[in-house]
Amino acid sequence: MQAKLTIDLAAIVANWRALARTEETAAVVKADAYGLGLAPVAKALAKAGARTFFVAQTEEGVALRNVLGPGAEIFVFGGLMAGDEAAFRDFELVPCLNSIEQAQRFAVAPTGRYALQLDTGMNRLGLEPADLGHLPDLGSPVLTMSHLACADEPDHPQNAAQLSCFQEIAGTGRRSLAATGGTLLGADYHFEMTRPGIGLYGGLPFAAAQPVVTLSLPVIQIREVAAGEAVGYGASYVADRPRRIATLSAGYADGLIRAMSGGATLWAGDTPCPLAGRVSMDLLTVDVTEAGAPEWLDILGPHQGVDALADAAGTIGYEVLTSLGGRYARSYTT
Ligand SMILES: *Cc1c(COP(=O)(O)O)cnc(C)c1O
Repeated sequence: MQAKLTIDLAAIVANWRALARTEETAAVVKADAYGLGLAPVAKALAKAGARTFFVAQTEEGVALRNVLGPGAEIFVFGGLMAGDEAAFRDFELVPCLNSIEQAQRFAVAPTGRYALQLDTGMNRLGLEPADLGHLPDLGSPVLTMSHLACADEPDHPQNAAQLSCFQEIAGTGRRSLAATGGTLLGADYHFEMTRPGIGLYGGLPFAAAQPVVTLSLPVIQIREVAAGEAVGYGASYVADRPRRIATLSAGYADGLIRAMSGGATLWAGDTPCPLAGRVSMDLLTVDVTEAGAPEWLDILGPHQGVDALADAAGTIGYEVLTSLGGRYARSYTT
């Protein structure tokens, strides 16, 4: 029996619309649309009017072109890697050139249009301000962009510092600085294009997002456990009084990471049921004493979103989403 992962495409579209602040709101669909499925997510967004998409890697761009066909503009954050020139040309992908080396590669074998990614203080990807005088002559970029390191902390001084650096070096064409967090920092950060990712998928820092994901796990077996009996690997959970323990079909191989052990809660309808003991590879053990004999429990749903579950495991919603495994029965609602 497979667990059921339900993805609400209408909520993704609604979140995309709710994040629109400028003429152009792109959609970041890297990493299989944050684990939720590149093809259905990108098609739904394109149908709703999205024309500009970002992925991280060349292969993701090729896959996205095959999904969307001609017309959509597809940017690749990782830029132009050696050996990928033909893919960029054939699939009309736009590289975000990140270094002098990538710019020289593009100058030798131009693949079409290009973007420039500038480093304004994150020191991860992008040309340094001092590199800009050393670029080969490539004509004008179709986009100049940079990325904020601290946009999920509105009061962090690095936001304003990166903004003023970007204002100084980005020129006047089509510019983009804001992902989800930057979109929420205010109009100064929007420029001509915003490019949210996590907010589309219902994650923080977009606190007003509509929830997108429901994950329901089937119960395989229920047993009564006496006071003093232990449950699961390492016998880390010991019943303090008689408890009813349900064993559910999903585990860390499905992205329900082991760090959730002892911290996460599942829901039988409106009844919270704490995880009892450690997460196994394929199984969870849950205290359903207060819930009767449920046949399914939700680990993501109306009572617990991706960020609440992430909190229980000491991580972030991004990681919960992108870890969701391949063994779920996935369905999409529109
Ligand atoms: C992932 C990514 C985004 C989207 O970020 P979110 O926080 O998910 O909105 C935007 N820009 C760059 C460069 C990224 O790597």
